Amino acid sequence: MPEGSYVTAWADFRVLPGVPEAVARLNRAGLRVIVVSNQRGIALGLYSEADVAAIHAKLQDSLRVQAAHVDAFYFCPHDKEQCNCRKPLPGMFEQAMRDFPEITASTSAMVGDSLSDIEFGKRLGMRTVFIDGGAEQRKAGADQAAELADGRFASLQDAVEALLTQG
Ligand SMILES: [Zn+2]
Repeated sequence: MPEGSYVTAWADFRVLPGVPEAVARLNRAGLRVIVVSNQRGIALGLYSEADVAAIHAKLQDSLRVQAAHVDAFYFCPHDKEQCNCRKPLPGMFEQAMRDFPEITASTSAMVGDSLSDIEFGKRLGMRTVFIDGGAEQRKAGADQAAELADGRFASLQDAVEALLTQG
């Protein structure tokens, strides 16, 4: 979704082509797949935590059909400047480290399409990968995000290929 627009229901959610295959590849490689998202729409009263949980469950169902799964979802339900978990702040990585003590920032990669994603990964010392979904999906700050990121790819599939083959 573009900046300022919100996915509020599964009907609005689109799994991009190649995403289930890319996630399945990460799963087969034994890597953790963790999704972190800012859900300021909750603080704005546009949807609820239950709505987000329902979308995550539907996404998980649709991935499982293709032998893929996400290991954990974390989201920040807060408004700006209210917490330590709204990306680019590190709170969601700290939550993930509590649940998966074996993970470390230096062996993790942050893949995203927004500046807050890339800044989040950079601040933590992760490898960062910007996905450029094309002009329609490009968010404010995308140019800066592309510049800042360690890698730039057109799709998650391409990014996963690079991450797994370049070590
Ligand atoms: Zn938060």
